[in-house]
Amino acid sequence: MRFYCAKNFPVKVIALAPPLGEDIEQLRKDVRTFLAEHVPQYSAEIRAASWMSYDRAFSRSMGARGWIGMTWPKQYGGHERSSLERYVVLEELLAAGAPSGAHWVADRQSGPLILRCGTEEMKQSILPRIACGELTFCIGMSEPEVGSDLASVQARAERVAGGWKLSGTKLWTTFAHQADYMIGLFRTSGTSTDKHKGLSQFVIDLHTPGIEIRTIRELGGHDNFNEVVFRDAVIREDSLLGDEGGGWSQVVSELALERSGPERYLSSFRLLVEAIGAADRGDSRVTTELGIMYAELVTLRQMSLGVAAMLGEGKDTGIAAAVVKDLGVTFEQRIPHAIHDMFGRELLGTDDLTRVQAVTTEMAPGFSLRGGTREILRSLIGRELLR
Ligand SMILES: Cc1cc2nc3c(=O)[nH]c(=O)nc-3n(C[C@H](O)[C@H](O)[C@H](O)COP(=O)(O)OP(=O)(O)OC[C@H]3O[C@@H](n4cnc5c(N)ncnc54)[C@H](O)[C@@H]3O)c2cc1C
Repeated sequence: MRFYCAKNFPVKVIALAPPLGEDIEQLRKDVRTFLAEHVPQYSAEIRAASWMSYDRAFSRSMGARGWIGMTWPKQYGGHERSSLERYVVLEELLAAGAPSGAHWVADRQSGPLILRCGTEEMKQSILPRIACGELTFCIGMSEPEVGSDLASVQARAERVAGGWKLSGTKLWTTFAHQADYMIGLFRTSGTSTDKHKGLSQFVIDLHTPGIEIRTIRELGGHDNFNEVVFRDAVIREDSLLGDEGGGWSQVVSELALERSGPERYLSSFRLLVEAIGAADRGDSRVTTELGIMYAELVTLRQMSLGVAAMLGEGKDTGIAAAVVKDLGVTFEQRIPHAIHDMFGRELLGTDDLTRVQAVTTEMAPGFSLRGGTREILRSLIGRELLR
């Protein structure tokens, strides 16, 4: 990742951290070359949203280069590369503002979950198609009355002849209207008062009859969210992912994957780049604030890299990921406010800085909600400290 100096500064590039090794830095160069060719044609708004911008063609071109499913075994379409190599690709995508939404969820959590808990048939039929950027996934956890307290899930899956019958509603399902599959959390026994017991996960083909996907327009006018209604939709028997009743521990490990990546501190990065480009070096108030942000970014990156290394060693990253996400989202949420204070009325034009500021400001409240709210993460961290 490169960090550019403000307008009128002598043009130079400051390395964010020591290089990670020759092979990895060569990979970084290759990714940058590819992104320099493919990303500039997208609008400033699309680049500001980056992994919340959806473009299947872009994901297919990533897959063709071997940059999806990088750490998975070759027999399932993966490339057997390290977690750090994957990390470098992710941070370059985010730094450039590449529209990575079509493959992000499948690469980050659905694929790894199938690899860990899925049947051999699932691994062979689904993983290679994710890795080439063909299949896209969404996350079916939250429900109308259930978000933070996921153990209270009410949607049900009932065994029927030849399959499972799904009923209930999932809410805030990002990109469900574009996705091929959902990994959904359903109750297979008991009631919501049974909490962690009786929950199971399913790999659900979203084209199954009886599934209605209704898009919910966000305040900023974007159509990313959905309500997904299951009306006795019957899916195949072998759609059960992992153990019946073992859904809770699977979801907890999935959430650790969801919380640990560089997207948890780089969501405002394009805004920071635009601000640095527009900053006046003579204004010490502005340069000091940008310098503070830079220092915070370097620290967060080191912490996030540490979690990637733990993942590579197969360690439990639950609490470490929660700490990085909490600190990371606090940082990325602060940036649009700070830039507003720096540039004030100058942000009323139609230039890239103004447009990126607008998109980032709209998205920012969600940074500390998606993937588990700030309060929930802090409760997890607090409980761990008291153990
Ligand atoms: C941009 C975005 C994308 C999302 N994408 C998806 C998706 O693809 N799939 C999916 O399943 N979900 C998705 N979500 C939903 C997200 O996971 C939930 O919004 C989140 O878990 C909070 O749930 P809730 O909205 O029901 O809030 P609630 O659980 O009702 O919480 C409301 C408030 O109360 C606080 N609170 C709740 N319980 C406690 C407690 N025990 N202690 C202290 N405070 C508490 C919360 O922190 C929050 O501030 C997305 C959300 C956003 C913003």
